[in-house]
Amino acid sequence: MTAYESKKIEPHWQAEWEKEKLFLTTEPAKGSKFYDLVMFPYPSGKIHMGHVRNYAIGDVIARYKRMQGFSVLHPIGWDAFGMPAENAAIKNQSHPAPWTEKCIEQMRIQLKRLGLSYDWSREVNTSKPDYYKWTQWMFLLMHERGLAYRKKALVNWCPKCETVLANEQVVKEDQCWRCDTKVEERALEQWFFKITDYADRLLGDLEKLSGWPEPVKIMQRNWIGKSEGVEIKFKIHPGSTGTKVKDNELVIYTTRPDTLFGVTYMVLAPEHPLVEELTKGTKHEKPVQKFREKVKHETIHEREESTGKEGVFTGAYAINPANGGEIPIWISDYVLMEYGTGAVMAVPAHDQRDFEFAKTHNLPIKVVIDPSPQSLVPSSMTEAFVDEGIMVNSGKFDGMKSSEALRKMGDEFGKWQTNYKLRDWLISRQRYWGAPVPIIYCKMCGTVPVPEKDLPVKLPQDVKFTGEGASPLTQVKNFVEAKCPKCGMPARRETDTLDTFNCSSWYYFRYCDPRNDKEPFNRELVERWMPVDQYIGGIEHAILHLLYSRFFTKVLYDAGWSNCDEPFTNLLTQGMVVKDGAKMSKSKGNVVDPDYIIEKYGADTARLFILFASPPERELEWSDAGVEGCFRFLNRVWRLIASSKAGDPGRKLHQTIKGVTEDVERFAFNTAIAKLMEFTNTLYETGATKESLESLLLLLSPFAPHLAEELWHQLGHKGSVCKEAWPKYDPALIMEEEITIPVQVNGKLRDTIVVPAGAQDDLLKEKALASERVKTFTAGKEIKKVIIIPKKLINLVVG
Ligand SMILES: [Zn+2]
Ligand SMILES: [Zn+2]
Repeated sequence: MTAYESKKIEPHWQAEWEKEKLFLTTEPAKGSKFYDLVMFPYPSGKIHMGHVRNYAIGDVIARYKRMQGFSVLHPIGWDAFGMPAENAAIKNQSHPAPWTEKCIEQMRIQLKRLGLSYDWSREVNTSKPDYYKWTQWMFLLMHERGLAYRKKALVNWCPKCETVLANEQVVKEDQCWRCDTKVEERALEQWFFKITDYADRLLGDLEKLSGWPEPVKIMQRNWIGKSEGVEIKFKIHPGSTGTKVKDNELVIYTTRPDTLFGVTYMVLAPEHPLVEELTKGTKHEKPVQKFREKVKHETIHEREESTGKEGVFTGAYAINPANGGEIPIWISDYVLMEYGTGAVMAVPAHDQRDFEFAKTHNLPIKVVIDPSPQSLVPSSMTEAFVDEGIMVNSGKFDGMKSSEALRKMGDEFGKWQTNYKLRDWLISRQRYWGAPVPIIYCKMCGTVPVPEKDLPVKLPQDVKFTGEGASPLTQVKNFVEAKCPKCGMPARRETDTLDTFNCSSWYYFRYCDPRNDKEPFNRELVERWMPVDQYIGGIEHAILHLLYSRFFTKVLYDAGWSNCDEPFTNLLTQGMVVKDGAKMSKSKGNVVDPDYIIEKYGADTARLFILFASPPERELEWSDAGVEGCFRFLNRVWRLIASSKAGDPGRKLHQTIKGVTEDVERFAFNTAIAKLMEFTNTLYETGATKESLESLLLLLSPFAPHLAEELWHQLGHKGSVCKEAWPKYDPALIMEEEITIPVQVNGKLRDTIVVPAGAQDDLLKEKALASERVKTFTAGKEIKKVIIIPKKLINLVVG
């Protein structure tokens, strides 16, 4: 018997598995499909520990489910379009395609070295025409269904390079990544998807997703941001401006009409069309112009994050529809034209941002809701009062509860409206490395979609990457010049490409039928595999990727392409891998390279450590000692198989099978591994039967597949451990010692129950309540409290 050498056995079994085509997806019998999906990587060229964690979790589930008799679809691919490849091309004066290809090759080798049981025959690459043809098809589907439209929108713009910058290219303090020039904003005509049409369903259907972590659902709910409010019109005081503003009015949206009497000023977005008109020819024109100039240099992000304390007065006044009061109109960068109406009413006494703005600019604060029985004095307030209370200073509404006034005042002064924070999805990118938007502009026919038979619109190869000027595609004459599909006249091709989130919004459909060149996927195959039974990925995708995927799925459902309207039944978001308390990053110098760990200890140790160190959804602190510990454990298993003495671990075998199975079912891989370690110790102490050794290897195989496979063969088996069934336990052999516990009702002994010694509170409570004798004393009464003294007593307090 030789020593445990991962370097020998791991490549050997990886080659065997590939030769035997062990992980090719098999056609499922009815009710036995399991779609196990990990978020596909961006091909950066190197996998990191976060990848290892994500994929190790996915792999344990795939291997476990196969052993349970499921047909498992466990695919992998590449989210290959995007900025890093294009940036590399600009830096190296090369082309993004070969760079991407090389990165994929390197990462594929790394993933294979980890022994992940993917069905590689289904690999997809979103930057290949055979894939992006169908991403373009998805755009056409959206267009056909009235869900794609064009409008002007702001982009980040570098005035020196004269180019649009992606968000990732805006660095440091809003500077261009290439030349450090301060980034500006420009309005460009761009494409949008009308995801807002689906806001209600995207919100409502979150209820169906019982297999999703609650925090993710909360983030989606907040992102969609449904609110009930009213639209209220404020007339502009005609005498208050330098020009002849007469019948103009400002429309605002508020969820707090109960505060209407407390409005002491209004704020417009600096780019609001009325601003110029209001200030023209007045002494306010200049300062307003200056402020608008300044805001132009702020990015949308800066403005959203702005605490909203900067602003200038326009000189104009609006009239409060509730009491006829005149209120000054200001502009501030925190109000954005894109959101809502570009105008807000400000109630400093009852809104924190308004409160701070009013304090800074010395604007009046008027209390209209009191936290009864106290009353508020504006001058002594240190923050806004935002809760419900009793109406004051509000005319006929005085004395009313604010919640009641909210309804009544909403009805009287405005029009009720449901609003969403969710905005339409800007899908245009002024970049090369993406799927071209399949649209042609014709002078005669207007905006014409490229017919399906002409897809894909291929990216031209002969392109210069300078990083300056407009998108590289605008420079390629034979790309831009096109024939109108309708009238055949010379026309211009769209040069924007699709946001890469488009590629990742439907890739899980493509995995069901990855080589189809007639349609994006075959409906029957999608019905066979979808929805994804288990999706695993980082929490950073909690909003955009998951929301866009749900949107695509619903559109495909509505269009009759699929029968599922939610793509992911269960979601697991794994925690970060940190070292010395910080996320692994180059700048912190705390990165552990997976290759190094594999080289030194083997893939099995790497997998085992990462699964053992922490429950999947929690943060994982890297520990060299922990890695050593896992390596030592695998060595112990290795020596045990070679040298164990005959003996019988008795019930421990069946308890271990039961415990590990239950742990794996609830993804508590760390405790499952702990039980296997404990069982190994037992086998050293008691000696082992052949059955107990075999079971140990079977239970270990999803975690450390190479070692398990090697030892399985050393025990004399010819077939792969991966094809074996998951071990079963004998319920008769897991019985624990039982104890008798008295049950009291209101302190009086009424019955006794017999339970396992280690029974949890839930079980004790359940058994006590199920007792027929106890029931006669609790019937028709409310159980107010259940007091449990472990192993001693249960007392039910009823009344
Ligand atoms: Zn620049
Ligand atoms: Zn035409």
